[in-house]
Amino acid sequence: MSDRPVLVIGGGPAGSAAAFWLAQKGHLVTLVEKKEYPRDKTCGDGLTPRAIWWLTEMGFDFSVQEFHRITGLRSYAGDRIFVEMNWPQHSRYPDWGGVIRRRDLDSQVADLARKQGVDILEKTEATPVVEDGQLLAVDLTHGEETERVDPEYVVIADGSLNRFGRELGTVRRKDYPMGLAARGYYRSPRSSDPFLESQLDLRDDTGATMPGYGWVFPLGDGTVNVGVGLLSTFKRWKHVNTTRMMADYARTAPRYWELGEDSKISEPVGGKLTMSFSKSPLVGPNWITVGDAAGAINPWNGEGISYGYETGHMAAEAVSDAIAFRDPARLHGYTRRLDEEFGLYFKMARVFVKLIGNPSVMRTLAHAGTHSRPLMEWTLKVMSNLLDEDEKGAGERAYQTLAALVRPLPVS
Ligand SMILES: Cc1cc2nc3c(=O)[nH]c(=O)nc-3n(C[C@H](O)[C@H](O)[C@H](O)COP(=O)(O)OP(=O)(O)OC[C@H]3O[C@@H](n4cnc5c(N)ncnc54)[C@H](O)[C@@H]3O)c2cc1C
Repeated sequence: MSDRPVLVIGGGPAGSAAAFWLAQKGHLVTLVEKKEYPRDKTCGDGLTPRAIWWLTEMGFDFSVQEFHRITGLRSYAGDRIFVEMNWPQHSRYPDWGGVIRRRDLDSQVADLARKQGVDILEKTEATPVVEDGQLLAVDLTHGEETERVDPEYVVIADGSLNRFGRELGTVRRKDYPMGLAARGYYRSPRSSDPFLESQLDLRDDTGATMPGYGWVFPLGDGTVNVGVGLLSTFKRWKHVNTTRMMADYARTAPRYWELGEDSKISEPVGGKLTMSFSKSPLVGPNWITVGDAAGAINPWNGEGISYGYETGHMAAEAVSDAIAFRDPARLHGYTRRLDEEFGLYFKMARVFVKLIGNPSVMRTLAHAGTHSRPLMEWTLKVMSNLLDEDEKGAGERAYQTLAALVRPLPVS
């Protein structure tokens, strides 16, 4: 074992999970977080069964009052319910999800890492010391003081802006999709709803189609998280104002939520969704990148929390191997694992989101879905990455079904 701690930069889902699993394997770990817990993070606050599984593995206490249990999904296409379904049965993942504000979730997961022995330095910002593209050391700034440290390995988990990684030469592939989303909180009489709700095709109040999707995620405490998102595969996406889109969605969302100016608690805040492992390189001689910093968000559904936990776990295994075998090349086991686990699935997603960038394709799919519940259930299973092992190949079949539907349509 090395007596130089592994340094983890960023205490969101990806950083806390990497630190948790490294400490669990007996390594010395220091995690630096530039903010102080509990800290807010712009998010829909929605957890799928995958995220629940990873949280369970880390010993998360779901009985906390901030956690609201979710039994399924409801999707609208236009004014009609597209599908309402319970989470599917799966041999590994549970059949329930949840909603919890990120300020609560992230501080509680950081506490789990702390209990494993991770040394967490809050209000501490990390800056790389780089020479000839190599990471030589890290400066840790706390208030007026800066300390230079020399960790053997660094896990970069600094989120979608990824300033630390960019200084090491990490770049985003511009031909891969990216998402833009905004969310705000409202009071709602339906806050105890056990379903995540989404709107697959947005309209403004004149009835005109807007390029994107909307959601209402109930928090169970009298409030709901309301948001809108769109993908860079939509033409003119750069001209879309997500704040305006959000206001239009809140006005046109189903009435039972009672969203309006009176029930609004917070103004919308926006953020970027880096998806489909659009960042590279993800591994350097002494560093490894996880979560949004790696572009780990699932393009099918915009989910990033679980992928933060999963990539954090995979990176912990690779760093642990590199330390145990005194062989930094073992870090590359991480990119191989990512490819095995997500390669084909994310590739299909890239094709899919390119196709739905065309509103007429999206409308055709929505129409097909409303007329075929099995197709829709299957598609939602694919989108949430909840296909079972014995359904191997089903993902490809689902994609082929979708492709057959959309192939005749004009897509540039
Ligand atoms: C509007 C919106 C809605 C979303 N909704 C959902 C959803 O419902 N469900 C879902 O699963 N995903 C959702 N996502 C995606 C999800 O929020 C991210 O994928 C997830 O937060 C990624 O976790 P992370 O640990 O990689 O990064 P982050 O959660 O961004 O954490 C990075 C941390 O690093 C810290 N940091 C950054 N730089 C430094 C530095 N130099 N030194 C020290 N600390 C640093 C930051 O303060 C931060 O705490 C949404 C995203 C957006 C924008």
